[in-house]
Order: sequence, then structure tokens, then C-alpha cells
Amino acid sequence: MIHKIHHVAIAVRSLDEALRFYRDTLGLPVHEQAVREDQGVKAALLTIGESEIELLEPLGPDTPIGRFLERRGEGIHHICLQTGDIDKELTDLKAKGVELIDQEPRQGLAGRICFLHPRSTKGVLVELAQPPE
Ligand code: ZN
Repeated sequence: MIHKIHHVAIAVRSLDEALRFYRDTLGLPVHEQAVREDQGVKAALLTIGESEIELLEPLGPDTPIGRFLERRGEGIHHICLQTGDIDKELTDLKAKGVELIDQEPRQGLAGRICFLHPRSTKGVLVELAQPPE
């Protein structure tokens, strides 16, 4: 079952510059900041009610976020839906013919995650996440 929007992720050229708006101007608290070499990003998670905003700065041009910025510029990169059982969710979606980017859940910033293909979601990159207990 999908419970809520866990986070909305925004691709940015500079995390520091983006924090000046989301943290300093809007006043949203940063609860985590991390460099994820495996995903090629420097990320910050800001709390907004029961959801989060994830800011993603690429570590280089030849990373998924770097290529996204090159093609589309800054903006919304994906939305993440929270589930209590990502294995079951993924199995159900596969059975329903949904096109997946990740065939199996993997470890991400938000817990165990996987991405659905925008071809199946009307053009939006959708991440599913099962946060740690
Ligand atoms: Zn995400």
C-alpha cells in the first residue's frame, strides 16, 4: 500500500545556493545532508510537515543528475511514494505490467528504494521507498 508522498526531489546546480532558498528563505529545517558517491549526488533532505524536499546536486556532468541538468535544467526530478512493503509493491506493479527502472529494491537515501519508468507514470519519474523502521 502507498501511504503518502515521502519526498519531492529537485535537481539543482548548486546545493549551497538551493539551501539559501529552501532552508534560509522558506525556513525549512535540513535533517540530513550526505554525499552519495554511488549515486553521484550531494543531497540534502529538508522536512516539510510529514514529507520532505530532497535537493540533489550532481557530483559531475556524467552522473544521472548531471545528465538531467544538461537536458532539462534545474527543476523537479522525481516524486517519491512511501510504502510499508516495497518488495510486495514491486511484485504487484510488475504483475500489473508497470515498467520498472529497478527490478529489485536497493539502498537509497530514503531507505530501500526503487524507480518506476516515466513511460508507465505519465512522464514523471516515480520512486518508491520503504524507510527504515
Ligand atoms: Zn528520492
